[in-house]
Amino acid sequence: MVRMPPKATSPLQPDWAWDAQPAWTVLDTDYAQGQHFEATLHAWRANPQRPRMLHYVGLLGESSAPTGFQRQYFEDGQVSRTLCAGPVTTVLGELTCSADVVLLGDVQHTPDWTAWTTQLLVRRCKRGTVLQVTHPNAHAKGTTPQLLDAPGLVWSSPQQGVYNPKWTIPNSRQASTTICAPPPARCAVIGAGIAGASVAHALALRGWQVTVYDQHAQPAQGASGLPAGLIVPQMSADDNARSRMSRSGTQLMLQHAQRLLRTGQDWEASGVLEMRDDKDPLWHAQAAWIQPAQLVRAWLQHPGIRFQGLSAVEHLVHNTETGLWTLQTAIGEAIGQAEVVVLANALGSQALLRNLAPTQPLQEAVQEQINALQPTHGTISSGLCHDAKTFPPHPVNGNGCFIPHVPQSDGMRWFAGSTFELDATHIANIAAQHAANHARLHSLLPPVAAALSEAFARGEVRHWSNTRCVTRDRLPLVGPLMAQPLCSLWICAGMGSRGLSFSALCAELLAARMGNEPLPLEASLARSLDVARVRRKRSPAPVDAAGN
Ligand SMILES: Cc1cc2nc3c(=O)[nH]c(=O)nc-3n(C[C@H](O)[C@H](O)[C@H](O)COP(=O)(O)OP(=O)(O)OC[C@H]3O[C@@H](n4cnc5c(N)ncnc54)[C@H](O)[C@@H]3O)c2cc1C
Repeated sequence: MVRMPPKATSPLQPDWAWDAQPAWTVLDTDYAQGQHFEATLHAWRANPQRPRMLHYVGLLGESSAPTGFQRQYFEDGQVSRTLCAGPVTTVLGELTCSADVVLLGDVQHTPDWTAWTTQLLVRRCKRGTVLQVTHPNAHAKGTTPQLLDAPGLVWSSPQQGVYNPKWTIPNSRQASTTICAPPPARCAVIGAGIAGASVAHALALRGWQVTVYDQHAQPAQGASGLPAGLIVPQMSADDNARSRMSRSGTQLMLQHAQRLLRTGQDWEASGVLEMRDDKDPLWHAQAAWIQPAQLVRAWLQHPGIRFQGLSAVEHLVHNTETGLWTLQTAIGEAIGQAEVVVLANALGSQALLRNLAPTQPLQEAVQEQINALQPTHGTISSGLCHDAKTFPPHPVNGNGCFIPHVPQSDGMRWFAGSTFELDATHIANIAAQHAANHARLHSLLPPVAAALSEAFARGEVRHWSNTRCVTRDRLPLVGPLMAQPLCSLWICAGMGSRGLSFSALCAELLAARMGNEPLPLEASLARSLDVARVRRKRSPAPVDAAGN
């Protein structure tokens, strides 16, 4: 006998107009135990006409979790769940979303629900958004419509309302991070590193036909060819944007790795021990080592993605009549066309944007950010794990890093890194690069450095060098490059020394902004990643020993 899955108790109405929609967004003001999420997911699965993407945003309230947003994927990435912890008014203020349905919990007993909270909620609605009361007491008393009295909200019963304002309420606060959504079409992603592959994958999931172009024959031949690196959150005393970003980004990268890679072979959720000056070491359980090229290749496997190697794009030509971009080589040969282009080619974006026609001017703030991109070269040292008695069982990070036991084609290898060189000529001196890495290892793990001294001295240590693309404030650049409402030229670059933690979150942010979906992170954080962010007038942050 075939057992049917239990039918979840559900506040859902069969009249949700979600059939065959490209995306559908549910905002649940009282996530609680997630019962409405389960019911929504169940209904989505059971619907043969289900929307391609389902975005579920759940508000967790104050006490349940540390404040912040956390995104998770289900159903091979077709369903996203963004849980937002913190006081409801603060969280709604930070939420960028245009809901199709709002599920309303017990508004009457939500501690800080005020008229302003209602205003914020209404601004996360669009014309036609359905509001459904899910709290049984509120049903009985009909209190929710009285409490949620805002212009444009029309209640047909104590349980159900719709947002249908007589006029459009301008929403300038969110304008900087949202945009008119173009329907999925062709997208050319330039650059097949971890940034380009993650963008390609995020867009392909949403129905875009993506071609990824790279100057090399194979993907991940730039900085993302790093043989082993760390996915690890970064800490700071003031919990700054980089720290918050690295925390959310790490979570997302671990999910991708978990879903797509072979554990122990391509990556391992090993945890990472962080050594800190004058403080006790800090254990990051949510951290891993990874061979990023494996994830690049896995992301590019999506059937909606085609990789085109040996394709150095030198010019981008926009036809304003057809709206199409043509990608050209140095000699003007057309190698591709697309409705939307995403630059994910790290420092290569500078030259490409320099070559743009004057009819496609960049905003001044964008131009400043692009001009300020800086190469930082680096080398990581590695050797075979012959005598590993002194090795820790997990990676150690701090002033430099040590990653033990990474399987490579010639056996298990250890990695110690990495150098940060502004002058490209320095990385040509391999002996000096190894010496710098060995010195770092001495301060990080003295017994390991001592045990590996002979391997360094005998020249048995291998090097891998490449170049990071660093922004002025060490935060990536994500967003549309022009201020037009239907901008079709975007960027996702400037991953610096944190691409393995940042790239999936940046890709998700780019796809969400492009599709007018709920953003995966707080609006304030999204603004600090925007490529058009205005530079704060102060001297550039120095690169610290960890490259931050
Ligand atoms: C030694 C070292 C150690 C590191 N360790 C870590 C770590 O432990 N953790 C971490 O998070 N990060 C680490 N990083 C940083 C990380 O490697 C980068 O942040 C990340 O790989 C950047 O990815 P990307 O896709 O932006 O750039 P890339 O991987 O460089 O990809 C850009 C791609 O664009 C292509 N391209 C450029 N111009 C063009 C063009 N005109 N046409 C076509 N293709 C073009 C290039 O060929 C390249 O494939 C390290 C970096 C180095 C160098």
